[in-house]
Amino acid sequence: MRTVIYPGSFDPVTNGHLDVVQRAARLFDRVIVAVAENDSKQPLFTLAERQKLVAQATRHLATVQTDCFKGLLVDYAVRRKANAIIRGLRAVSDFEFEFQLALINRRMNEAIETIFVMPKDTYTFLSSRIVKEICRLGGDVRAFVPAHVHHALQRKFGFPLRAAKG
Ligand code: ADP
Repeated sequence: MRTVIYPGSFDPVTNGHLDVVQRAARLFDRVIVAVAENDSKQPLFTLAERQKLVAQATRHLATVQTDCFKGLLVDYAVRRKANAIIRGLRAVSDFEFEFQLALINRRMNEAIETIFVMPKDTYTFLSSRIVKEICRLGGDVRAFVPAHVHHALQRKFGFPLRAAKG
């Protein structure tokens, strides 16, 4: 059984994340989307909310599970009997940080391989941060997130997000 962990903040989950999940599900027997409890970031959604939004977005994929974790990712991967960590690479700007992270994780545990996948080109500009920024300015993010995430964003921002013009 080949298991991969897909870790991240998922604040909130976007169609870009889901593209990575789908690619992971094609390569591995089991995918665990692991939502990080990261105290150094100030998330918009709570850990429980983020995990619930991911669970709802992936419930049609039988081999995908969701979980949350804190502490070292490699330790979590061992606990979950995972062989690999998967991350998405959007652009050169992601590369340096991701490269550093992958090598540090390898240094801590050689048995766990990090693999990278590139999303569909239309998602290369997409990030949770951009989605939140558009919402804050009252824009429409329905093309970038699943419908239930759009509704959760509307509730969080407390006003209906208008449709984009043109
Ligand atoms: P983190 O705080 O760990 O960066 P994110 O939720 O922002 O968490 O991202 C988790 C992973 O998903 C990272 O590997 C990131 O590069 C990847 N990712 C985020 N958005 C996209 C996207 N639009 N396309 C492909 N990968 C993405």
